[in-house]
Amino acid sequence: MATLVDPIGRKIEYLRVSVVDSCNLHCFYCSPKEACRPRTVRDQLSKEQIIRVIAAAAELGIRKIRLTGGEPLIRKDIVEIVRDVAQINGIEDLSLTTNGTLLAQLAKPLKEAGLKRVNISLDSLDETNFATITHGGDIKTTLTGIDAAVEVGLTPIKINMVVIKDVNDHEIESFARMTLEKDIHVRFIEYMPLLGQEASWKQHFLSSAEIMSYCASVAELEALPEDDAHGPAKNYKFAGAKGILGFITPISQHFCATCNRLRLTSDGKIKPCLFAEDVVDLMPALIAGQNLHPLFLEAVSRKPLHEDISPASLGGVFGPQGMVDIGG
Ligand code: SAM
Repeated sequence: MATLVDPIGRKIEYLRVSVVDSCNLHCFYCSPKEACRPRTVRDQLSKEQIIRVIAAAAELGIRKIRLTGGEPLIRKDIVEIVRDVAQINGIEDLSLTTNGTLLAQLAKPLKEAGLKRVNISLDSLDETNFATITHGGDIKTTLTGIDAAVEVGLTPIKINMVVIKDVNDHEIESFARMTLEKDIHVRFIEYMPLLGQEASWKQHFLSSAEIMSYCASVAELEALPEDDAHGPAKNYKFAGAKGILGFITPISQHFCATCNRLRLTSDGKIKPCLFAEDVVDLMPALIAGQNLHPLFLEAVSRKPLHEDISPASLGGVFGPQGMVDIGG
C-alpha cells in the first residue's frame, strides 16, 4: 500500500478538503462581513473534481478526509460529495466540520451517505453572545443541529470553541461542565491571528494553560493517554464524567512535529502548511485531465518543518486570509 512521507519522515495520511469558501455565519475572527469579498462559484472545484483529487490522494496513501469550508453544508451537492468520497478505495475515515446550522435537515442523509462523525463549532452557549460573535446567527439552529447529529450517531460529537478573552472566556466553565453529563468532546482552541487581525489578537489571546486553569476550577482534570491518530488535541477528563475535554494549542505549543496533513482549498490548491503561504495549484492539471500524483508529491516535499508561529514572530506570517478562505 502506498504511503506519503515528507522529507523529515512525517507520514501524511490526512487531507482536509474545503468544498466552499463562504459561510452562512460571519464570525468576526474568521469570516467577518466587512472582509467578505465577492465570491464566484466559477473558481470552485466541482463535485467531480473534488472526487478526482481525493481518489488520487487515496492512491498515494491518504486515509483520512475531513470536509470543511467555509460552511460545507451550504453546498447543494454536499450529500452526493459525501456519498462519493465514502466509496473511494482506501478512505478509512470521513468526517466533516460544520457550524451545525443546517444539520437538523442534513444529519440523517449525511449519515446514510457514509459520513462517520462531525465537529461542530460553537463559541457561546448564550443566545446574545452567539449572535454577536457570528454577526446575527441564531444559536437555536446550531443546538438543534447538535441534537440531530447525536440522534443519527455522527459520533463522537466534537464541539469546538475558539476561546477569545473578554468575548467568551467567561463561558469556559459552562462548556467544560457539559462533559460531566454528556458523552461529547468539548475542545478549546487557541485563537489564531489570521485575517491580519494581529492587534486585536494580542488583546484577546488566551493560552491553553490559562483555559485549563478555568476548567480545573470545575473539578480535577485527569490526563488521558495520547491517541495514535495524531489529533492535535491534548485530552483530559473530569473524574466520572461522560465526555472529554480537549485543548488545541496551535500558538502556545505548535504540533508541527507530528503534523500528518495537507489541505485542499476550494479553488483547487494544496496547502502543505496552514501557516505558510506556499501552495501547489491542481487546477491546470485537473482541467487538462493530467495525473495529479506528481503534484501531491511536490506538495509533500514542500511541507515545512515548522513555521515560526510564536507570538513574537507575528507580523506578516499570517496573510490576509481567514480560515473561511483556507479551509478550517
Ligand atoms: N463552517 C465550519 C465551522 O464553523 O466549523 C467549518 C469552517 S471553520 C473555518 C473551521 C474552524 O476554524 C472553526 O472551528 C473555527 O472556529 C476555526 N477558526 C476560524 N478562524 C479561527 C481563528 N482565527 N483562530 C482559531 N480558530 C479559528
